[in-house]
Amino acid sequence: MAFNEHKIKSAKSKIDGMGAFAIAPIKARSKIGNMTGEIISTREARKRVKATKRIKMVEFNERWALDATNSNDISNINHSCSPNTYIRLINTTVEFYALRNIKKGEELTADYGETQHEKTLKCGCGAPNCRGWL
Ligand SMILES: [Zn+2]
Repeated sequence: MAFNEHKIKSAKSKIDGMGAFAIAPIKARSKIGNMTGEIISTREARKRVKATKRIKMVEFNERWALDATNSNDISNINHSCSPNTYIRLINTTVEFYALRNIKKGEELTADYGETQHEKTLKCGCGAPNCRGWL
């Protein structure tokens, strides 16, 4: 879990809890890494979300999901409605790429709105175009 292959580290975030930060500049469109976790059935994922309200859950499709509760630094990337990274779901991998050049020390954010469908959490990203929910 402490494996920092991709120039990021976890630290306290102004957005929410822990966040992920660039420890070196990251070039636009370069891959930051994959979010690790436990691949489970979507059915199991929904059960866990209901039972624990855990939000680090990514649904790939109607069959598979990723529980990123025990994951790497990437899973600390917070949601923002105006993010600096983007997510590509490929089969059952969650890949993160830089949306633009990211400076050293910048907090990494991604738009989880496209992967999460619950819309029950208030968004605190503070972006001017914030949608208000997660
Ligand atoms: Zn927002």
